[in-house]
Amino acid sequence: MEGVTRQSLKPLLELQRIDSAVDRLNARRAHLPEQQELDELADRRAEVAALDAEEQAVLDTATREQNKLEAEVRQIADKIDHEQARLYSGEVNNAKELSAIQAELDALRRRKTHLEDQELDVMERREEVETRANDLSKQLGEADAQVADARARLDAASVEIARELAELSAERAQLVPAINAELVELYESMRPKHGGIAVAKYDQGTCRACGLPLSPLARDEIKRTDEALLRCENCRRLLVVV
Ligand SMILES: [Zn+2]
Repeated sequence: MEGVTRQSLKPLLELQRIDSAVDRLNARRAHLPEQQELDELADRRAEVAALDAEEQAVLDTATREQNKLEAEVRQIADKIDHEQARLYSGEVNNAKELSAIQAELDALRRRKTHLEDQELDVMERREEVETRANDLSKQLGEADAQVADARARLDAASVEIARELAELSAERAQLVPAINAELVELYESMRPKHGGIAVAKYDQGTCRACGLPLSPLARDEIKRTDEALLRCENCRRLLVVV
């Protein structure tokens, strides 16, 4: 590679530092604990919301039932009033007719008592359902607040990561033009094959990426020549002599 010296390779270490930091931030962003927490809370909220909707539906049914019974009781009470008014109006004198009214009144009163008993049952049931529904609505409100809180913390963490990434991106943009373009290309093509780390310091006979010492022969070669593009014998990464 033309114009590439050992010295000119040194900025690659800085580029590697930046890219590794970017990789770490991206990995962190993909696995934020806040995201997991938010997912769990959102699942829990959905469960509570489903239970709440179910209980509200039961409550609505009970309320309709109660209203219907109330209306029926009112209707019968009106009928009773009407029949009683007829009975005491003095307009009906026929004994047979009077006893028919009396019988009708008895039947109406029995029916009314029966409906009122039913109404009491429904009211009791409705109160129980209402207590459960209120409790679930309260739980849902709490779940909403927890979700909102987790979301706010996730947003804050994401914003912080985005800020750091923007800083690194600016640093990178400034650094790259100062490095041989072919060298950058080589470095970038190597990165995916080496777990994101294409270049390492060669320090005291050792590759600082894989941590293994080079063979005496290779070390001697590095000392003897000024070959710029050196590779670690073990991990095949580019070595920068420092
Ligand atoms: Zn190595």
